[in-house]
Amino acid sequence: MIFPHLANLQFPLKKTYVIYSKSTDFLLCLIINMKISNLGKIDTQKKDLIVFDLDGTLIKTKSPMDSDMSKLFSRLLAIRKVAVIGGGKYQVFQDLFLKRLKCPKLLLKKLFIFPTTSTLFYRFSNGWKKVYSIELSAREKADIRRAFKETFAEVGYRHPQKTYGQIIEDRKSQVTFSALGQEVVKVLGNRGVELKKQWLLRNKDLKMQMTRILQKKLPKLEVRAAGVTSIDVTKKGIDKAYGIGKIQQHLKIPVKRMLFVGDAIFEGGNDYAVVRTGVDYIKVSGPEETKKIIKLFLNR
Ligand SMILES: [Mg+2]
Repeated sequence: MIFPHLANLQFPLKKTYVIYSKSTDFLLCLIINMKISNLGKIDTQKKDLIVFDLDGTLIKTKSPMDSDMSKLFSRLLAIRKVAVIGGGKYQVFQDLFLKRLKCPKLLLKKLFIFPTTSTLFYRFSNGWKKVYSIELSAREKADIRRAFKETFAEVGYRHPQKTYGQIIEDRKSQVTFSALGQEVVKVLGNRGVELKKQWLLRNKDLKMQMTRILQKKLPKLEVRAAGVTSIDVTKKGIDKAYGIGKIQQHLKIPVKRMLFVGDAIFEGGNDYAVVRTGVDYIKVSGPEETKKIIKLFLNR
């Protein structure tokens, strides 16, 4: 791993991006203001595949993709292959992303979907077809529920009085804790997004503490702080680095020909694992910055 600590940098300037290139032996660190012209230093021509995180990167947390993003994404598909990896289940990808994506069916063949942290892979061929699925056993899922219960008790965590939908959801290949419930944004819209942010402000350290305790209780499984209010548990070794490996294997595209774009490329973030694959990556603060990255490809 080369200079992973650099991924922790936070950037006070809103329109500043850092791109780490580890496709060669040296670290290429370009600080790029999206307004300025040295964007030319990124060799977008050498990127055959753009891999996006979903939540917080292509969409506002648990919210439907907006029409601007849909248009840009469609135009990107006309010139590049695109993969999307997210912690959300396939239904979430359907509702918030695929149903909002207005693009010719022909282009959908260039889009590859990896829900639940790439434990599922769907591709388009006369409809969305499952390519693989890596599921947790009933025993593992029972162990996870017990570990959550014990962890809540140990740290003295109390669920909010009002929650929306399931707090601990079985996504078959992943069990996910969502502090306010799976449906909070679906039910409350932007207010739900605000409630989630407020929860995180109050419980950021506690969430990380719970993640660490859970990992100790579930040594054979993988526990990650994810999303805003979520903790994901999957089989061991399942993270976005695993996803990058799967993408390489199934699409036959080498890592050096990929670019990853995500909002959680920092220690403890659920995009951080991609760093160890050596893929070039860009950390964004949200969908608005992601749009600028897409425009960068479109304008060349
Ligand atoms: Mg994200």
